[in-house]
Amino acid sequence: MMEYPFPLGYFEDFIDIISHFKDIFEVITYRDLDWIDDADKENFYPKERAQWLKYRDPNKIYLIIQHDLDSGIQDAIDMLNYEKKHQIKSVIMVLIDPINSRLVKNINKFNTYPCPIDIPYLSELEKKFFFEIGYHGNAYERSHFNVELAREIFRADLKYLRKHFSIQSYCPHGGPIDFNGRSNGFIDLPPEEKNRLKWVLIDYRIQFDGIFSDGGHYGVKEPDNCDLRDFIKAAKPGGRYLIHIHPCYYARVVTPSSNFSGTHWYEAMLKFYRANSTKTSFWNDVKEFIEDNYATQ
Ligand SMILES: [Zn+2]
Repeated sequence: MMEYPFPLGYFEDFIDIISHFKDIFEVITYRDLDWIDDADKENFYPKERAQWLKYRDPNKIYLIIQHDLDSGIQDAIDMLNYEKKHQIKSVIMVLIDPINSRLVKNINKFNTYPCPIDIPYLSELEKKFFFEIGYHGNAYERSHFNVELAREIFRADLKYLRKHFSIQSYCPHGGPIDFNGRSNGFIDLPPEEKNRLKWVLIDYRIQFDGIFSDGGHYGVKEPDNCDLRDFIKAAKPGGRYLIHIHPCYYARVVTPSSNFSGTHWYEAMLKFYRANSTKTSFWNDVKEFIEDNYATQ
């Protein structure tokens, strides 16, 4: 059974806030960064950071919104349509033939699950609405943990995806782990991709001033500190922040997560969106905070 611990309205109201204050929040994608010399993984990320600090506007809060389509397009479509409607562009990481991690762990079986992509729809988002489509690599699990084979699968995926999209960014999928605890991040980029495909997150990563992630909500250690509203209030002008969202956790009808039960913000959120109140917003506090602290127009 799919579990949806967060109301879709909670994310949509976040999009409302950042599109309402467009003079403060600047939403960018990985393509907007300066990728010179990125083949040199040890030095590239700090260099990019130094470069960024020179050209960014110190009065703006920069956000990259990344969605990993771990369960396929159907769970993401409302979210993406909402962003499109508000002219907010995000990074969409697509996955091919993912493997059920639980079965690998428990009975060493490599069963794939369906994870549809919808090429025409994503292609329109990319070409007309400036979204970025990236590769959510899962070749290591699909090779049954064979490094050579994984590299071939990696190449074949890129070849296929590039027929439709301009794939420039790469983020390994969590996925199953082998006997040594390794997963997709263990597979290095094929040599010919080193100056072409940009490794943005997990193992190697772009430097951010803060990362908000709903990933791994099952094992979350500090459930009190997982409210996106607090993260947005704490973001500082001149900073660059990642909002890492898995659409498979969001729906109109929520399955309350036991991980957060008893947590003040989570209970309040469930109550608010269940009542579907339109007169007030769950994000009012954030709106007021922005109006009080920044020069808004
Ligand atoms: Zn993933």
